[in-house]
Amino acid sequence: MKKQLSNNEIKNLYKTICKYHRKYLNQYEVKLPRLTNARGNYTKDALVLVYLVQDYPNTRKVSKGELTQFIRQYYPEVNDVQQARHLGAQKGWFIAAGGRDNRDVILSRGEYKLITLKKPYPAFHGHRIEQTEDWEELKKRYGYRCATCGLIEGKPNIHWPNTITRLQKAHINPNLPLEAGNIIPQCQKCNRADRNNWVYDERGRVIKLSNPNIIKRSDKEIRLKVYKILYEEFKGVNPNE
Ligand SMILES: [Zn+2]
Repeated sequence: MKKQLSNNEIKNLYKTICKYHRKYLNQYEVKLPRLTNARGNYTKDALVLVYLVQDYPNTRKVSKGELTQFIRQYYPEVNDVQQARHLGAQKGWFIAAGGRDNRDVILSRGEYKLITLKKPYPAFHGHRIEQTEDWEELKKRYGYRCATCGLIEGKPNIHWPNTITRLQKAHINPNLPLEAGNIIPQCQKCNRADRNNWVYDERGRVIKLSNPNIIKRSDKEIRLKVYKILYEEFKGVNPNE
């Protein structure tokens, strides 16, 4: 396994990835990263995949530090490469990550290994969960589980002793009406008052704020960063005036 790759080697490794993707992974909606971006630079996702796929199928485990060093040859400012993790669980490539899923191979925390290009990441569901007007059908599509914590309807709610999990219609975006397209099933614990501060995705993960007052409760360091973002966005001018 090489720690530096020529442009030709990168191109050929990427071709291998494309070939397997077309044959085995595309049908599961595993997303193939572009090799280069609009400016002609290699994308980080492609570089990480190319690095992990070396000597396929005899891939080896790679530490995050090693991946970071490789990526730095192209992006010198990078100090923490997260791509391998995201390419797995979120984008569907079968990349085992240490400290998360050691079912197939023994990995320490911060180590990765491309397991195969013939199957998607085991827990990957490429398809978005289609919303429906029918509450029973919607719960079925979520496997009768809380979208956020995964507890099963009718089974004990492990967060609270002696409580049975009940699934409730919960907002995706609390600022929009509770109607088809804006509903996820959540257990009574996940669907509590503080959830109105957040917008969720259809997999029950928090993706945005829905209550700006959360900022007031945040640490000063975060408030300063928010201020900087907004100052730059509005060029220092009060947009409400
Ligand atoms: Zn829950």
